[in-house]
Amino acid sequence: MQPLADITPLVASLNPAQKEAVTAPPEHRLVLAGAGSGKTRVLVHRIAWLIAVEGVSPLSILAVTFTNKAASEMRGRIEQLINVPIRSMWVGTFHGIAHRMLRLHWKEAGLAQNFQILDADDQVRLVKRVIRSLDLSDEQWPPKMVTGWINAQKEEARRPQHLADLGDFTQRQYVRIYTAYEQACAQSGMVDFAELLLRAFELSRDVPEIQAHYRRRFRHILVDEFQDTNTLQYLWLKVLAGDQGTMFAVGDDDQSIYSWRGARVENMVRLEKDFPGTEVVRLEQNYRSTGTILKAANGLIAKNTNRLGKNLWTDSGEGEQIQLYAAFNEYDEAEFVANRMREHIEGRSRHSDLAILYRSNAQSRVLEEILIRARIPYRIYGGLRFFERQEIKDALAYLRLLHNRDDDTSFERAVNTPARGIGATSMERLREIARASSVSLWMAAKNAAAQLGRSAGNVTQFLKLIDDLQHETRDMELSKVTELVIARTGLREHYRKEKGEQAEARLENLDELISAARSFETDPAARAAAASENPDEPVLDPLTAFLTHAALESGEEQAGPGEDCVQLMTLHAAKGLEFPVVFIVGVENGLFPSMRAVDEGNLEEERRLFYVGITRARRKLYLSYAEIRRVHGVEQIGAPSMFLKEVPSECVVETRPRAGILRPGFGSREPQSSYRGGYGGYGSGGAPGAARPLPRSIAASSGGLGPGGFRLGQRVEHPKFGEGTILSFDGDGDRAQIEVKFRDAGVKRLVLGFANLRGL
Ligand code: ATP
Ligand code: MG
Repeated sequence: MQPLADITPLVASLNPAQKEAVTAPPEHRLVLAGAGSGKTRVLVHRIAWLIAVEGVSPLSILAVTFTNKAASEMRGRIEQLINVPIRSMWVGTFHGIAHRMLRLHWKEAGLAQNFQILDADDQVRLVKRVIRSLDLSDEQWPPKMVTGWINAQKEEARRPQHLADLGDFTQRQYVRIYTAYEQACAQSGMVDFAELLLRAFELSRDVPEIQAHYRRRFRHILVDEFQDTNTLQYLWLKVLAGDQGTMFAVGDDDQSIYSWRGARVENMVRLEKDFPGTEVVRLEQNYRSTGTILKAANGLIAKNTNRLGKNLWTDSGEGEQIQLYAAFNEYDEAEFVANRMREHIEGRSRHSDLAILYRSNAQSRVLEEILIRARIPYRIYGGLRFFERQEIKDALAYLRLLHNRDDDTSFERAVNTPARGIGATSMERLREIARASSVSLWMAAKNAAAQLGRSAGNVTQFLKLIDDLQHETRDMELSKVTELVIARTGLREHYRKEKGEQAEARLENLDELISAARSFETDPAARAAAASENPDEPVLDPLTAFLTHAALESGEEQAGPGEDCVQLMTLHAAKGLEFPVVFIVGVENGLFPSMRAVDEGNLEEERRLFYVGITRARRKLYLSYAEIRRVHGVEQIGAPSMFLKEVPSECVVETRPRAGILRPGFGSREPQSSYRGGYGGYGSGGAPGAARPLPRSIAASSGGLGPGGFRLGQRVEHPKFGEGTILSFDGDGDRAQIEVKFRDAGVKRLVLGFANLRGL
């Protein structure tokens, strides 16, 4: 490759420390630096430098990033910098690179030429078959759990033969399953994700020609987000580098957030030992965020004790304060976000400048609902929208069947989820019968179950389950129906048994579905929206309306590729990214930090996750928490996250602009007060004397008289919820929303025109 004559543009935009790292001679380097200090930028420039100035062939470079998106961006940026296409360069994720290597060397790796990749679901299914083939019960040995264990072994580079028999019965069975699973994979030419890495590692370690080839080839190995590499990935890098290759790793121990998936932050320390002469480079200037955001992040992370220690500063000016919003509930929170987003968009921000980050993906549901209503295009990054998630579709299939037995799609989905011993052959037979007599699957099953051979009994039981459920739920509230369906159909148990983080997320989503149903019962506005396509239609019964709502929300609303839209994602998925405006929602104890982290006392990783979240913001950061959040259909009082107190108070301004009247025990307060660490006292057990300000529209009018002639604080009666007190109004006329705290039923948000409230 022709070295670039003029290297000025390459280094012109780098500070001295960055320049030093980029232009260093080929020795091992560890760039250890905080968020937004240009680590990724340095890595990209380093590659460009190697190619353009040092004359290194792109073939000699191996670059590892965290996502495929990051990999393609990296390639694009390098090409832009040096103006030469670099298709031949290996840049990708660990899995991507392992896959590429195994396709090239399938024979040496002992694989079939056309080996197939088992995705996570297929893997669990295969493990389950293996368990059964060993005459073990998959009740006692839950396939998902066993799969998790097998993957964890692989991530530590352990094959069955490496696992000592410790005289432990459980371990012995696990090893037995692992062994049989390996055989099953080999026989069918299958490779799971963890196996891709392990196989590539073993190939590079054990086959001398391959090892020699890649060591000769990859003289320069560069790794982004190094703090989140696991043991196996680290070992693989080491084998590939050998004695000749140079390592250039960039990372930030304060952003290590994947230990629950086997990531080992110790790899940063290990690198210095294993690669003699490693120079550690520190970058201290942050180019991403305002002074305020950075100060907040620094203040927070200083509370962690387990740190390698770094400084970060910026000269980009203080910028605006972080806005903290104490939402009344999760809807109020979502509306706050949507309103602020609208302001930013009107103020010429692009939609894609705005991002919402949350701890648990179940939180997306309410946000999605409000964004759809506000007609703000959005996309969920790295995940599915709420109503498209597998477990939600499962539960909805049952609800749909209750509603309409002839819904064949739902029948197909529900009949064997969870597994009820109704196999593919029986289903095929059932479809034939249905086709032949032009009836639905349900009718076919009812009329001709006997023709289904061994599955006949199971099918009949399934029909009975649906009929029984229908009977039992006749006069039940929608949320109770949903709850019962999730329990009685075995869905909850099915996902509970799966164990692991994904199963946990699925259970949270199922709970969120119950919450959705609950707010649907009590929120005529949502029901009206579901029916609003045709205002002349009779009012829908709650189940129909809810199903309509679910169908509408899982349709075409998500922005298409390339469309300018706001981004929603979990905090984990936001690693490495940056946005001018960031909203972090649900900053509450039990949610963030998660309950489990609190229980296990593992707060440092959660704090790092918050640090990652804060440092995604360039210009403006919003934080919010809800005082009341519906979890599992039940309203729970939330306390603001303990992490909020750790953010330096001068960085934050707290607002509570909307709801509220004086609450018992709370004095009056200015609508916008400079935050002093008290967080209004509500739910946090502190500061009486903090109260929610009046909503502007009400405060301005005399005597707090609101729509419908009701007053704030007035006692009212609702036909269903009984007696309560009015907490707030929003809007005017019949569509005004009114928040009432009912003595027994808790706080509800009602549309005045539908609420049938009687003043007391
Ligand atoms: P993270 O820890 O979040 O992955 P990082 O350390 O990788 O962050 P980058 O994403 O590389 O940081 O850089 C953060 C932002 O600062 C980017 O927008 C980048 O273009 C910009 N930046 C970095 N260094 C400089 C510089 N010397 N001059 C101008 N902008 C810079
Ligand atoms: Mg980065």
